[in-house]
Amino acid sequence: MAERRFWVFIEQEEGKPSPVSWELLGVAHKLASEIEDELQASGDKVVVEGVLLGENVEPIAHTAIEYGAERIYLIDDARLKHYRNRPYYKGITALVNKYKPEVFLIGATTLGRDLAGAVATSLGTGLTADCTQLEMGFARNSPKKLLLATRPAFGGNVMATIVCHKTTPQMASVRPRVFPMPQRDPTRTAEIIREQLSNDDKMDKVELLEVIRDRVQDVNIEYADVIISGGRGLGSPDGFELLEKLASELGGVVGTTRPCVDAGWINYGHQVGQTGKTVRPKLYVAAGISGALQHKVGILNSDFIIAINKDPHAPIFELSHIGITGDLFEIIPEFTKQIKEMKESWA
Ligand code: FAD
Repeated sequence: MAERRFWVFIEQEEGKPSPVSWELLGVAHKLASEIEDELQASGDKVVVEGVLLGENVEPIAHTAIEYGAERIYLIDDARLKHYRNRPYYKGITALVNKYKPEVFLIGATTLGRDLAGAVATSLGTGLTADCTQLEMGFARNSPKKLLLATRPAFGGNVMATIVCHKTTPQMASVRPRVFPMPQRDPTRTAEIIREQLSNDDKMDKVELLEVIRDRVQDVNIEYADVIISGGRGLGSPDGFELLEKLASELGGVVGTTRPCVDAGWINYGHQVGQTGKTVRPKLYVAAGISGALQHKVGILNSDFIIAINKDPHAPIFELSHIGITGDLFEIIPEFTKQIKEMKESWA
């Protein structure tokens, strides 16, 4: 009986894990279930494994196990305290060459995007970046199922399914919030295999002097439960003040469309859509947003969408659960006022 390894990169920065890693562990299990028939015929089994690099990060290995990792490869080394491309990709490449995973998933975060390309290049394998769908299926006359990785292409006008049929691991990067969070089970246990980072003296070509975080981009829109978004219909950057008032009443954050970011009305950290963030809130309010495909792909997984637009034919209404035809400058303040009054009546 052979083991077929499906790997997930467990991302962390300064000891804080990125939740996309847990989402990917969930997807890896889903992919494993899709080759159940092959496994039964061959007697092989899939093992969903996590790869974790950093300094003093063992507690994160245990969290990854609780989210579904069935084995963890851990490289704990002072040189990995802060993310730098070279030691990380070198460490991971050595692990891949040793353990030969079949599938390797990485979060399409800022760190993950930087890392995934370097790992794929150094291994000479294929990487499908920014996937929105993953499944196992037959392709290219392969005798066994391969990873079918789907992502928007040509400006979001077509969805391309890409197969890496000649080399392994078949790599894909996936944005946060594209897939649901799996159940955490604190009773799960699994093996942790400790590995070493090579002492290659070329490992540390860059000396890190200081880490300065970009706090401006730090809005955590991907994991917000309530997002109040505004588009070009706001007319100017001042329009965001209205949205901020409503967001603060509802305990939410403000989102936006790409033209507003391009115009410098608000920073990129708030942008939702194909070239911005993918979100999964309980409530998404889209005010003065037309509903272009590139925006819609970012909000498809929202539980409930309220759209406010002057144009009754705006495409956003095709996706919304409640559509309000009207002027956002009248509707948003009224909405905010009523929520405030309702909350005060509960107090
Ligand atoms: P518009 O399309 O101009 O819509 C404004 C809307 O406001 C209109 O429907 C209008 O009826 C309404 N309106 C005006 N005044 C009011 C009012 N007072 N009250 C109520 N409604 C009003 N876009 C994104 O959002 N995210 C992305 O990640 C993204 N990536 C892209 C990637 C590529 C490769 C390309 C080519 C485009 C991308 N875009 C993206 C841009 C996208 O195609 C659209 O241009 C954009 O989403 C439109 O933004 P908008 O809805 O704010 O503006």
